[in-house]
Amino acid sequence: MSNNTFRIKCICGLVQDAAAGSVCPQCKNPLNFPQGGMIHLYRKGSPLGVAGGFGIYINNVPLGHIGNKQTVSIPVSFGTYTLHVAAGMNRKCKDLTFNITPENPIGYAKVYMKPGFWTNSFVVEPSTKEEMPL
Ligand SMILES: [Zn+2]
Repeated sequence: MSNNTFRIKCICGLVQDAAAGSVCPQCKNPLNFPQGGMIHLYRKGSPLGVAGGFGIYINNVPLGHIGNKQTVSIPVSFGTYTLHVAAGMNRKCKDLTFNITPENPIGYAKVYMKPGFWTNSFVVEPSTKEEMPL
């Protein structure tokens, strides 16, 4: 789905899926792709029929949504990134933190909803390239 597009936040604030070299449709500035690393996040199919998008947050910055069975690829520079997911009133999430370094420039993660007695929660877990439906 996202073989050639990447989740990018423009300097104007617009979050979009864009190919390298793209121009922002809102402010017409060239999109600045962070260099060095990449985080691939995919969402496992939900048996609960939760059709809506889950909101993605990296270091508390909203980065759009991820749909059912969608994969989102997020370019990042080297650093530490905490992935958090939320949907609607549901903010409970087991977050995942990546250290993106020259030795380990690519992070793989999967997210799913875990049914609970009172409320559902989200889990972001480490994944692998093999597991990822890229
Ligand atoms: Zn823009």
